[in-house]
Amino acid sequence: MKEIELIKLTERLISIPSESFNENTIVDFIADYLSEEDHLKVEKINNIVYAVIEGRDRSKTLCLAGHVDTVPPNGNAVPRYEGDRLFGLGAVDMKGGIAIMLKLALTATNPNCNLKFIFYPREEVDNKHNGLKELYSIDKDYLNCDAAILLEPTNGYIEAGCQGVIKLRVYIA
Ligand SMILES: [Zn+2]
Repeated sequence: MKEIELIKLTERLISIPSESFNENTIVDFIADYLSEEDHLKVEKINNIVYAVIEGRDRSKTLCLAGHVDTVPPNGNAVPRYEGDRLFGLGAVDMKGGIAIMLKLALTATNPNCNLKFIFYPREEVDNKHNGLKELYSIDKDYLNCDAAILLEPTNGYIEAGCQGVIKLRVYIA
């Protein structure tokens, strides 16, 4: 039986070490977790797990994405509870988000629009190693969608980020 209680699933994900460049075990866990579900098409592309659910309206696609790696441990590799709060490496950034993606992928069996899930490695290191870039370089269609939500922690706020950079040169006379 697959665990779908979010806090237990997050605890399980924290207990799998996944420092950047060492994501094999967690990627296998995610691919295995999503396997054998009739409504899901799952592909493993190097260390990226890509899963799609066809929606009732196939003309629109919502993408949910999250990185599976963490920074190096610092005495926090083992998940622990304080009351009903879960602590541990990557609990917030972003194994909690990965747990939500996994639960949605398993339970959203008949969504309004297509859903695309991308679990990718190497986000917590230099941008040139980023797994999303790798996926884009393999086939940019993997990232095609009408809207994308990255489940990074924002304390519950919607943050419209990653919209480019403005560089200004200011002259004061
Ligand atoms: Zn993050």
